[in-house]
Amino acid sequence: MSNIIIDSRFDSGSIDVMTVHQASAMLRLKPDNESEFKQWFHFRVANCGGRELVLKIVGLNDSAYPAGWPDYNACVSEDRDFWGRAPSTFDKDEEGGTLTIRYTPASDLVWFAYFAPFSIDRHHDLIAECASSEGVEHRRLGETLDGQPLDCLAMGEGETQVWLYGRQHPGESMAEWWMEGALEVLCDPADTLGRALRQKCRFHVVPNCNPDGSARGHLRTNAKGVNLNREWESPSAERSPEVLAIRNAMDETGVHFAMDVHGDEAIDANFLAGYEGIPSWSDEHGERFYRYQRILDRRCPDFQTVKGYPKAGPGKANMTVSTNQVAERYAATAMTLEMPFKDNSDYPDVVQGWSPARCKLLARDCLGALLEWLESEEG
Ligand code: ZN
Repeated sequence: MSNIIIDSRFDSGSIDVMTVHQASAMLRLKPDNESEFKQWFHFRVANCGGRELVLKIVGLNDSAYPAGWPDYNACVSEDRDFWGRAPSTFDKDEEGGTLTIRYTPASDLVWFAYFAPFSIDRHHDLIAECASSEGVEHRRLGETLDGQPLDCLAMGEGETQVWLYGRQHPGESMAEWWMEGALEVLCDPADTLGRALRQKCRFHVVPNCNPDGSARGHLRTNAKGVNLNREWESPSAERSPEVLAIRNAMDETGVHFAMDVHGDEAIDANFLAGYEGIPSWSDEHGERFYRYQRILDRRCPDFQTVKGYPKAGPGKANMTVSTNQVAERYAATAMTLEMPFKDNSDYPDVVQGWSPARCKLLARDCLGALLEWLESEEG
């Protein structure tokens, strides 16, 4: 029986192969460059030959989010288009914490990833399609440390300045699937939801805030190992040119409503985090966020408000975090959207778990809630 062959030298590829024996392999996560964070993986397996693969990723107790592994099933694809889930089990007592993935591919070749990847090529396809749509302006906000462009799309004629941005944490690829869904609404001239929003708002959409980390297969940081969502108090050209470029563009437009889109490793639900604890907090300011949250909760079965992060106490907000800084700096209604790596356990999908298609549908619901929020504010 010949050995399987594992490769990861491609866009967002990441894994460390320790040993291979026939159809089994022992693997380790690679940390982000110049960083301790490790959680993302993406690799392909060749020479499968119709056998059951047994892939063990070991040493996970010192990954970035050990709570991410229980009840997690690895993402798997044989055509790199449809991503299903491979049954996986976690044992914290085996080899420093081991995720065992078992899967029998139909063909000789199969891909595995922490979540359905959203490639740099797909990013450029998305930017090109949107930029060529009527009434959409493209702006290159700046350049990353690896020399990649930082893309922003703008559309709409309204007064309300809306910023949608995602993937500060590059391994949270669900954020860019969400962005693709949002842009389909906002760029389609036949979509009435998009048209109504474009009458009321000026949108600024940054689908990928961290293309370097995305291409390098990072979980949480840019090319230099910097966590961009801890740079918003004082971004710098040396450490965080991505944040500096976006923040400067926000200074030009102002911000009324902002959503920063993320994924959460451990919590099996979709939820929002607000800006409790910022210096200028007032109940009136906070109520604008809570009202949006209530509208989304009522409209969308995939959204809930029971599970989530603890709220910061008065004056205790971390002002290096994007949405706290944006809420303070622009008096904006600014929120962090978190989607699961696992699934929404209220409505589980055993075939795909939380998936690109559901990210895109959630984006549509978030935009529908935004329109209702704007209209009920006027009424
Ligand atoms: Zn994140």
